[in-house]
Amino acid sequence: MPDDFSDFASWPTLAYANSRLDRANDRRGDAGFLAAAKTDPSTRVYVISGELVVLARRGEALDPLFRFAEAEAFGPAIATVFLGLADKAARMGLGLTPETAAQLKTRPDLLVTDLRSVAIGGLVAPEHLPPLAATKALVTWHARHRYCAKCGTATQSTEAGWRRDCAQCGVQHFPRTDPCVIMLVIDGERCLLAHQSRFAAGMWSCLAGFVEPGETLEEAVRRETFEEAGVKVGRVRYFASQPWPFPMSLMVGCHAEATATELHIDRAEIEDARWVSREEAGLMLARQHPGGLYTPPPTAVAHHLIRTYVERGAGIITAETGENER
Ligand SMILES: [Zn+2]
Repeated sequence: MPDDFSDFASWPTLAYANSRLDRANDRRGDAGFLAAAKTDPSTRVYVISGELVVLARRGEALDPLFRFAEAEAFGPAIATVFLGLADKAARMGLGLTPETAAQLKTRPDLLVTDLRSVAIGGLVAPEHLPPLAATKALVTWHARHRYCAKCGTATQSTEAGWRRDCAQCGVQHFPRTDPCVIMLVIDGERCLLAHQSRFAAGMWSCLAGFVEPGETLEEAVRRETFEEAGVKVGRVRYFASQPWPFPMSLMVGCHAEATATELHIDRAEIEDARWVSREEAGLMLARQHPGGLYTPPPTAVAHHLIRTYVERGAGIITAETGENER
């Protein structure tokens, strides 16, 4: 399935995906290059403070890029990462403390806000969302993994922020990405949507859950669907994935075929779930539902899972087969 949504040319952009940066992994261990990049006038920096994104107000526009010295002057850095190259110019990410965010919020030349609002509100060009997502995930990882998970000694950032090393026991720690399945379960002309208490009123989306150790993506889809809604799933078909830096997940979007459809909802996990007709799902996507119900916005892979089903029907499950078929 399309990782660049190439056959959906008219579709709005999926957020945080399809980075245009050259990650230039080979430069991560190059101390001379990294030192020079900090003073190079072409270098630009994305800034995350606590959980929030720092944007510059430049005239009417919002700019997520700062010169290195400008970003460094905001406050003490808890992480500095080399993200890659854009037209041969270095792109870095800088992590500041949550306390710094509170100070920066008072400055009239800056906007300090959460990454979801940046994405959904289209506050910056879509090309900036993948490096902002990478910065947020890496900064969070550094903030939460300051000590060796094996021996408890304080670790040091290395490889331009892509590894932390323990000098005591020699273990190398790499940034985490936590896989999470998100699935639209389909029963012919209806699909299963759920409402979570943390969602805005009226928003219904796909079921989702973290993949457990020793589990395939398909097994995670089947287990989570059964746990949360009591629905049994057979075939699972991969659709597309999306970095989800809240704090450091990868959402793996799948369509799934229901084989037993009676609902047994786990109210501790989700507030509600129900079967929605393909027609009704179309009204929710278009924000024309008579009851005011709606789906997540096009920035989220859930929107595209629902939209593909509404446009193509249940045949999307059977069009191709995967290796881990039941
Ligand atoms: Zn150690």
